[in-house]
Amino acid sequence: MAYDDGNIFAKILNMEIPAKIVYQDEMILAFHDAFPVAPVHVLVIPKGKYTDFDDFISNAGESDILYYFKKVKEIAKDLNLDDYRIMTNKGSGSGQTVFHFHTHIISGNNLKKN
Ligand code: AMP
Repeated sequence: MAYDDGNIFAKILNMEIPAKIVYQDEMILAFHDAFPVAPVHVLVIPKGKYTDFDDFISNAGESDILYYFKKVKEIAKDLNLDDYRIMTNKGSGSGQTVFHFHTHIISGNNLKKN
C-alpha cells in the first residue's frame, strides 16, 4: 500500500489539525488519542512516512527502529505508567484505521485480557 499524504496523522504532523501533544522531537511525535479506550491512551508515531508496522520494520533504518521503540518506553515512563499495554494494528483486518504507523500506549484500571 502506498503512503497517503492525506491521512489524519500526516495532517497532525503538518499541523493542519490539532492534537494534544505529549512529546516530540525530530523523529517522533506522541499525542493523546482523540477517542481514548482507557484513562491513558497515547499514540506514538515516527515522523517518517510508513503505512504500518510491516512497512516501518522493513524500510526504516535499524537505529531509527531502535530509537522509536526505546522512545515508546520512555514516553510511558514519563507518563508515570507502571502497567500499560502497547499495541499496533497492522492492516484493516486487524482494526487499523489510520495508515501512518503508530503504537498505542494504553493504561488504566479497566484493561481486559483481550
Ligand atoms: P488504529 O485504529 O489502530 O489505526 O488507530 C487509530 C487511532 O487514531 C484510533 O484509536 C483513533 O481513535 C485515533 N484517532 C483518529 N483520529 C484522531 C485524531 N484526529 N487525533 C487523535 N487520535 C485520532
